[in-house]
Amino acid sequence: MITKVIQEDHIQKAKQYINKGDKFVIISHVSPDGDAIGSSLGLYHFLSAYGKDNISVIVPTDFPSFLKWMPNTKDIIIHAQTPELAEQLIEEADVIFCLDFNVPKRVEKLAPALLRAPGRKVLIDHHLDPGDFCKLVISHPGISSTSELIFRFICQLGEYELITRDAATCIYAGMMTDTGAFTYNSNKPEIYTIIGELIKKGIDKDAIYRHVNQTYSESRLRLMGYIVYEKMKTYADKQASLITLSLDELNQFQYKTGDTEGFVNLPLSIEGIAFSVFLKQDKEYIKISLRSVGDFPCNLFAAKYFNGGGHKNASGGEFHGTIEEAIAVFEQGLAEFNPTLPLI
Ligand code: 5GP
Ligand code: MN
Repeated sequence: MITKVIQEDHIQKAKQYINKGDKFVIISHVSPDGDAIGSSLGLYHFLSAYGKDNISVIVPTDFPSFLKWMPNTKDIIIHAQTPELAEQLIEEADVIFCLDFNVPKRVEKLAPALLRAPGRKVLIDHHLDPGDFCKLVISHPGISSTSELIFRFICQLGEYELITRDAATCIYAGMMTDTGAFTYNSNKPEIYTIIGELIKKGIDKDAIYRHVNQTYSESRLRLMGYIVYEKMKTYADKQASLITLSLDELNQFQYKTGDTEGFVNLPLSIEGIAFSVFLKQDKEYIKISLRSVGDFPCNLFAAKYFNGGGHKNASGGEFHGTIEEAIAVFEQGLAEFNPTLPLI
């Protein structure tokens, strides 16, 4: 038996919205990751099985090809490619599910359309500090992925039977990617009870792992070698590490969306490194990824220096300026915000 973590009145309210609604939109965050896509498609497959036939999954920007094997990814609407269609669907939706993000800023250019839409908004998310932009807020930062929350949500609706193999596949993919294939944030026994249930639904967990982690290009592996050999700087006294990549360097390795996935974790394999930061230049700004092991709260570091946030051990942010300036901010942060000391 899985603990009912979602409040019963929230479940009843959501059930009412689902039963009354005809047109559904499911939205997730910019640069969607496995949990964003997995939870969105998991809910999509459930709503289809529940008998709804007007459901659109919308994301602000494109996502990596190692996520495009999930059932029905080809139906996902990408706002950056078809803004008018995406905005019209949001405007006309009866119910808008907001998955795997906590504040409108995380959907970037979709935020205005989301905020002005008249439909009932339901947040289902596991990030800290949910914003006040949804009518119903199902927020559980203690749960390691939004996909796991979607599984729990469907079960609490009493609809476990309607979880199809396709839904289970997407849910598992999201649970797996947000825990680094169950290597962090994944020590709660119920995670494995849920995995057992998903396997009973017919998923092939080994194939899902291969789809996500073993289908990269040759140039991506060479880029990984380059960053480790040439670009990784360590700050042993601070137990920290920094990797930077410029647009020129990315182009040199025929960079495609998703190619740098997981790079930020590499320095954490070094004994004594507990905090890793990766700065990647984008067209409009520098994207920052931060990871830590143990108690170091990289979300606080991200919030203080890079206008970001996220989870204690996995956060992100952005910086407007040059790479050199971003490095200076990082180093200043390291000096002030000593990760070797207990911080809070
Ligand atoms: P990633 O490094 O994979 O892009 O992001 C890791 C986590 O950090 C995400 O799951 C999300 O919680 C958070 N995150 C990433 N980028 C941002 C950002 O710009 N702002 C905030 N608040 N959180 C972010
Ligand atoms: Mn997530």
